[in-house]
Amino acid sequence: MSRYVAAIDQGTTSTRAMIFDHAGTVIAVDQREHNQIFPRAGWVEHDPVEIWENTRAVVAGALAKGDLTAADIAAVGITNQRETTVVWDRATGEPVYNAIVWQDTRTDRIAEELGRLGGGQQRYRERTGLPLATYFSGPKIKWILDNVEGVRERAEAGELAFGTMDSWILWNMTGGTDGGVHGTDPTNASRTLLMDLDTLKWDAEIAAEMGVPMSMLPEIYSSSEVYGSVRARGALAGVPIAGILGDQQAATFGQACLTPGEAKNTYGTGNFVLLNTGTDKVLSSNGLLTTVCYKLGDAKPVYALEGAIAVTGSLVQWLRDNLGMIGSAAEIEEHARSVDDNGGAYFVPAFSGLFAPYWRSDARGAIVGLTRFVNKGHLARAVLEATAFQTREVIEAMNADSGVALTSLKVDGGMVVNELLMQFQADILGVEVIRPVVAETTALGAAYAAGLAVGYWAGEDAIRTNWAEDKRWQPNLDEARREREFRNWKKAVTKTFDWVE
Ligand code: ADP
Repeated sequence: MSRYVAAIDQGTTSTRAMIFDHAGTVIAVDQREHNQIFPRAGWVEHDPVEIWENTRAVVAGALAKGDLTAADIAAVGITNQRETTVVWDRATGEPVYNAIVWQDTRTDRIAEELGRLGGGQQRYRERTGLPLATYFSGPKIKWILDNVEGVRERAEAGELAFGTMDSWILWNMTGGTDGGVHGTDPTNASRTLLMDLDTLKWDAEIAAEMGVPMSMLPEIYSSSEVYGSVRARGALAGVPIAGILGDQQAATFGQACLTPGEAKNTYGTGNFVLLNTGTDKVLSSNGLLTTVCYKLGDAKPVYALEGAIAVTGSLVQWLRDNLGMIGSAAEIEEHARSVDDNGGAYFVPAFSGLFAPYWRSDARGAIVGLTRFVNKGHLARAVLEATAFQTREVIEAMNADSGVALTSLKVDGGMVVNELLMQFQADILGVEVIRPVVAETTALGAAYAAGLAVGYWAGEDAIRTNWAEDKRWQPNLDEARREREFRNWKKAVTKTFDWVE
């Protein structure tokens, strides 16, 4: 058996390849950022060809850094930014349009019109676990078919394929136009608004309502099985591709949240809290999503309740790129430490409307509570606190839905290096926050899914054993202050409503 397992993490801001050993230790990493394309307010696109090129480059880069060849790699797993939608031509391999990114809000009319067929935002909740919102893939496919010239006819003639980023990479890696596997896994499929959560099959009726031909849709495999082998020449040639998990489900898996009641929060571009609910599908009454957490081979699917927050780390990016207020993301912590508190300022980053628990596409961002007193440090704090307040909102929803109060929170993702944020998170939640040694749990989760399928790891216990704590933060804020801050935040949120007709 080869010594290592590889994972490709196709994220919103970058693509990474990582190599892990049996203990889940990172052996080598390579990473490349891709362009964020903003053609208009509310639109966000990626170039799928650039992403595929980056994928190949980082795979080769990681192998080179570890001084490894394909023979050292037992299997490769794929994890990806979810919902982001690509439509491509099966014969040429060319995308018919840029990938429409999950944050993109251009489908708000489409979502509204579908809701008007009856049931409003909840029309597909029962079958798919999701509200009708701009976030999910189905309406994005419809937008491409409706708006890119000639595409609908080609789709109806069976010439085009749809995929989330996992499918795009799987198809290209397994040969593309030369017999590429057009597949996905239930965690990704459960984000399209097109998959039935009980049968894990595409729902023909919903596809028809959205005008999406069934022939475009990938085969739904499990999250852990051999889908095919790498056909592309060069790095990883011949290695089985054996795991696919959407990034948040991968992080949940990598954090060893394998027992019902266990939850994690990932702090990346956005924040995503997932609670493992076992083989029971729990429908939310509090604005959360029901989603597939993972499905290992022939085993029953495991479900999760999810609180998805659109803008957290990307608010820090915005401060860096759009305002130039900081030179790097890490700098925000220094500014935030220059003051004792937020000085009364609250920043609600409703850039893509508000996701959980509100699901309001009419919301737009607001900074409130400003006085002459407020300075750069206070704003830096307000930016970081926004992440923690939004997290508390979805965790309250989760407690309400599950009837059990969360007692500690496992965290991961790019923002968890920010110690001030982690302390404030514990303070505002009133529960312990725990960071594992491997913060790259997303890639690790995909590696586990792939490694389990080929017998590199014997079973789920290996994942539990590998998980190790790095640091924990205890709540340290008196309750009156905690609740006052949170009330202020809630008031600030109400100021973001009704900005879009
Ligand atoms: P993704 O996988 O969604 O692309 P990552 O998990 O790599 O995201 O996290 C990157 C995000 O974390 C960026 O939005 C960045 O602004 C934020 N970030 C990185 N370092 C820090 C830091 N020290 N403090 C606050 N935010 C940070």
